[in-house]
Amino acid sequence: MKYIFVVGGVMSGVGKGVAVSSVAKILQSRGFRVTAIKIDPYLNVDAGTMNPTEHGEVFVLNDGTECDQDLGNYERFLNQDLPGLNYMTAGSIFQAVIAKERNLEYGGRCVEVVPHIPLEALEKIKKAGLDNKAEIVIVEIGGTVGEYQNILFLEAVRILKIKKPNDVLLVLVSFLPLQNLDSELKTKPTQYAVKTLNSAGLQPDIILARAATPLDKKRKEKIAFNCSLREEDIVSAPDVESIYEVPVNFEKDNLSDRILKKLKMRPRKSNMAEWRRLIRAIKNTPRPVNIGIVGKYFATGKFILTDSYISVIEAVKHAAFHFKRQPVIKWIEAEEFADKPNQLKQLSGYDGIIVPGGFGQRGTEGKIAAIGYCRKNKIPFLGLCYGMQLAVVEFSRSIVGFKEANSTEIYPKTPYPVIDILPEQKKNLKEKKYGATMRLGAYPAVLKKGTLAFRAYGKSSISERHRHRYEVNPDYVGQLEGKGIIFSGSSPDNRLMEIMELAQSVHPFFAATQFHPEFKSRPLNPHPLFREFIKAAIKNRES
Ligand code: GLN
Repeated sequence: MKYIFVVGGVMSGVGKGVAVSSVAKILQSRGFRVTAIKIDPYLNVDAGTMNPTEHGEVFVLNDGTECDQDLGNYERFLNQDLPGLNYMTAGSIFQAVIAKERNLEYGGRCVEVVPHIPLEALEKIKKAGLDNKAEIVIVEIGGTVGEYQNILFLEAVRILKIKKPNDVLLVLVSFLPLQNLDSELKTKPTQYAVKTLNSAGLQPDIILARAATPLDKKRKEKIAFNCSLREEDIVSAPDVESIYEVPVNFEKDNLSDRILKKLKMRPRKSNMAEWRRLIRAIKNTPRPVNIGIVGKYFATGKFILTDSYISVIEAVKHAAFHFKRQPVIKWIEAEEFADKPNQLKQLSGYDGIIVPGGFGQRGTEGKIAAIGYCRKNKIPFLGLCYGMQLAVVEFSRSIVGFKEANSTEIYPKTPYPVIDILPEQKKNLKEKKYGATMRLGAYPAVLKKGTLAFRAYGKSSISERHRHRYEVNPDYVGQLEGKGIIFSGSSPDNRLMEIMELAQSVHPFFAATQFHPEFKSRPLNPHPLFREFIKAAIKNRES
């Protein structure tokens, strides 16, 4: 097994996740079995307990692992489902070491941060590689070189490099700032990042140079000379319109050849035809489709952060590209509808509206108002998890006549708890067991023939990923159905309602899911529900 470690320099958010996914893609395209792993330097045991406005979306794998959004990128680029072994946090590694210590697995020796934490990380990486039957394992180390948090993982790279000098490669994703359009790309911060790596006993083998523009020869020479690398090992990684172009860009600098040569692997022929077709489709999309996302995890100080909904955004893009449309996505702050209902009119300016997942009370009345507006004005609507629960609340209030209907998450004393806690979840909340205890990961569902959902999937058995504690209250299912809700998907035992929709005779596209379809959408394989939603949005736009 060969290992490629990827670290970030200069600043966070340089696009390490996309770089790792793209390196994985180009090697996969050359016929190698590749997998990608993320190490998050946080002490949180998993990403499930982190606030999305701080850490970004919590991505969920089939096995229920709540992880960093980068795993979503890996899955989308590799077009592969990944296991929970491919994600680890510093917290989970510490936890494993301490558990071993308690079990006397260190045989009475002193257990220390070094080497035991790096060794544990390496053991987990190897296990993940074997589990994925990978020939090449790519490991992304979160954070930026020079910060305290990820030093133990740099140490892991150093240890493995000593053990397997021919099998380990270190890639630095760095950033070259451009002060203004007339100035030159600056290489000094990258030089400092390399010096920092040097002081951890490491020398990068390849530098991926992120910058607003492609790198010229002069810049490559400068970095190569100052950082003791060869010029051909400095790879230009300029900003691109679509992240899916990055693998193709890397190959312009022959990155996969460089990597294979350094890892002493025999090159195989590259086949990127399908991916190149995708890029052509992305670039050939003059006509737009306008989608509004009504959410609440956007604001961070004065900035708007869309990372909280990254998989939803990507799923919209995949579906739009499928129809050769340019996705134009706008953020709509749910709270503004609660006190200013006349703002709802703006929703008519969109071709389709999505209400994504969420937690807690803030913003819910605004989302409910937005859903009602979409229902009455026949705007294509897709609800995801909380979006489905709130659609059921809206319907109960407006159509069934349960004026104070609500989810017990929002209003525990509601006389009409149409959304209620899953029985198996009550104990968790009472005992404050919040970590990794939701209904998580892939569950099967059965679809009803003749419904919008069935037509979208084209089959009756599906499997989708979940992350929630509440559900449609079974006591109300009959009454809701009596008034026109169609529960088109349910758990095989029919206990849990998984998809709700309205008949297409009353609304062109009104569908919502208890699960998160966005986690399974892939650029080469858009999710059927997103695809049908975008189709309806395009139709709405054109009528
Ligand atoms: N808060 C809701 C629940 O826990 C929905 C969760 C979500 O949207 N992911 O059931």
